[in-house]
Amino acid sequence: MSQLVIQNLCVSVETDQGPKEILSGVNLTINSGEIHAIMGPNGSGKSTLAATIAGHPSYEVTDGSITLDGEDVLEMSVDERAKAGLFLAMQYPVAIPGVTLSNFLRTAKTAIAGEAPALRPWLKEVRGSMEDLRMGNEFLERNVNEGFSGGEKKRAEILQLKLLKPKMAILDETDSGLDVDALRIVSEGVNSAKDELDLGVVVITHYTRILRYIKPDFVHVFANGKIVDQGGPELAEQLEDQGYDRYLVPAEA
Ligand code: ADP
Ligand code: MG
Ligand code: MG
Repeated sequence: MSQLVIQNLCVSVETDQGPKEILSGVNLTINSGEIHAIMGPNGSGKSTLAATIAGHPSYEVTDGSITLDGEDVLEMSVDERAKAGLFLAMQYPVAIPGVTLSNFLRTAKTAIAGEAPALRPWLKEVRGSMEDLRMGNEFLERNVNEGFSGGEKKRAEILQLKLLKPKMAILDETDSGLDVDALRIVSEGVNSAKDELDLGVVVITHYTRILRYIKPDFVHVFANGKIVDQGGPELAEQLEDQGYDRYLVPAEA
C-alpha cells in the first residue's frame, strides 16, 4: 500500500519577464489501486504538475510538499524518484538517438531494481508485454522513439510502465494522437498494470474519451493552476457535455 501526497504545491518557471507562477496550491492524495483523472483546459498546468512530480529542473517549487509513503520526493533526484516508484509517461516522449529500446529498457530496469534482471526471464517478459501491446519485436532494435509514430511512442511508454513496475504512474495525455484501436490497447495495458501492481494511476487528459477505457475512481478539474472541482466518474460525463467554461474566471471588465 503506497500513498502519494501533494500538499499546497506552488510551482514557478523562470521567464524573460521573471518568475511566473503556474501551480497555485495543488492538493491531491493518491493511494495504491486508485485511478485519478485530472482534466482541464489547455494551459491550466496539468503537464507542469506531472513534470514537477517527476523532477523536471525547469519547474521551481516555491511552496508546499510532495511525499511518497512519507518520504520527501522534492529532496530526491530524478533517478531517486524513479527508484522510489514514481513513473511519468510524458505528453511528448523524446527520442533517444543511439540507444535501442532493448538497451534502454534493460538499463532502466537495472537502475531501478539495483541489479540486472536475469536475461531469459527478462526477455520473455519484454516479449510478452510487447505482444500485449501489439508491438512487433523489431521495435527492440530501433532507437527509442526515433521515427516512432504518435501511437507507437505511447505504446513504448506503457511498455516501460509494465516492465519497470512503479508504485505510482502519471500518464500525461497518453490518449493524444491515438486512434480508437490504439487507445483500447494502451488502456488495456494501463488497466492490467494497475491490477497486477496495485498501481496508483493519475490519468491527465483534456478529453473524456480515454476515461471510457480507464475508469477513474476520482475526477479532478484543473483550471488556472489549481484543482477547482472534484467528484466521481459522473463529473467527467458532465465535462463532456458542458466543457470547462464554467471554471474559467472571465477577465475583469
Ligand atoms: P497543460 O498541460 O494543462 O496544457 P502546462 O502545464 O503545459 O498546461 O502549461 C501551463 C502554463 O504554464 C502555460 O501557460 C504554459 O505556457 C506555461 N509554461 C509551462 N512550462 C513553461 C516554461 N518552461 N516556461 C514558460 N512557461 C511555461
Ligand atoms: Mg497542453
Ligand atoms: Mg499538458
